[in-house]
Amino acid sequence: MKIYEFEQIQKIIDKSKNILLTTHIRPDGDALGSESALFHLLKKLGKNPTVFNSSSLPQEYEFLNIGNFYNQYHSNEHFKKLKGFDLVIVLDVSAYSRLGKIGEDLQKWSIQTICFDHHPTRTDKFDYEIIDSTAAATGSLVYEYIQNTNPELMDLNMANALYICILTDTGSFRFENTSSKTMGIAAELIDYGVKPGTLYQNIYENRLPEQMLLLGLILQRVKYTCNGKLAWFCVTRNIAKQAGVKLEDVDGYTDFIRSTKGVEIAIMFLEQDDDKIRLNFRSKGNIVINQVAKKYNGGGHAFAAGASINCKIEEAVDEVVNDVKILISDYENNNC
Ligand code: AMP
Repeated sequence: MKIYEFEQIQKIIDKSKNILLTTHIRPDGDALGSESALFHLLKKLGKNPTVFNSSSLPQEYEFLNIGNFYNQYHSNEHFKKLKGFDLVIVLDVSAYSRLGKIGEDLQKWSIQTICFDHHPTRTDKFDYEIIDSTAAATGSLVYEYIQNTNPELMDLNMANALYICILTDTGSFRFENTSSKTMGIAAELIDYGVKPGTLYQNIYENRLPEQMLLLGLILQRVKYTCNGKLAWFCVTRNIAKQAGVKLEDVDGYTDFIRSTKGVEIAIMFLEQDDDKIRLNFRSKGNIVINQVAKKYNGGGHAFAAGASINCKIEEAVDEVVNDVKILISDYENNNC
């Protein structure tokens, strides 16, 4: 991004007072870290920021909720409040439909918008955009914005939040999006006092015993096909209930299954309702997977993508596994 683009964003923020921050449904570390860092910055700038998200705060990110900034949006209670905002900052997504109910409601008011995002799939247009799909995380764009406009306001809370963005979206600095620039930003955040080991533990070593029980149930059920290149598993509502895990806390399992030797692609089918299945795709990096997600009106990154499909779980498995088998066979044909 160019410096003048950040300066332009700053001018818009300078002219605004009541600023709404929001992000996609089922927010992840990048979404929440970006919101948290901007919330603290805006406070320091004398603004009146509010965070409203359609989803509840995932339990592993509760430690980020400093100052209790997190609010879950309920249309019946908060719709009229939207009118009072003079600026909306949308983080880590560029589609109103992925904001959940607040996205639908925001489109009924005409409020200026800024979008910070790093996803390759673009859906809607915002008044001002800081969008760069080469950035490892939305948080690294937020970091660049702060460094180019208000570097003196950076503090440990903001640095922690931005470090979480990078840590989670690079898979703890393991994915190919971990560039020297990404590492450079992480190093600068550590200079603000970030403790990498503590933050890692907060997120990855704080799983609930129920979530570990669910891992056991999943491991017993994984199916392998395409000579072990494709691994997939279903989490039905019954299995989640058996483990005692809430559906919104079913996360991270697909990454784990992808770590199996020989597996190129892992898929999770999560039954959210009788006729609503969430798809979670993870690729090891040789086969682009977001095109399959797009086919089901989803999206995401080349090697980490998701979608939702309206049918029974068995039908979803039949259709999606078949699509991915074709993808793997094309990959094999092009590489032999
Ligand atoms: P997940 O599988 O939910 O961890 O998401 C992996 C990536 O895909 C993230 O960047 C999400 O923002 C994106 N993603 C997940 N579900 C969808 C969807 N239904 N539509 C568009 N992008 C999605």
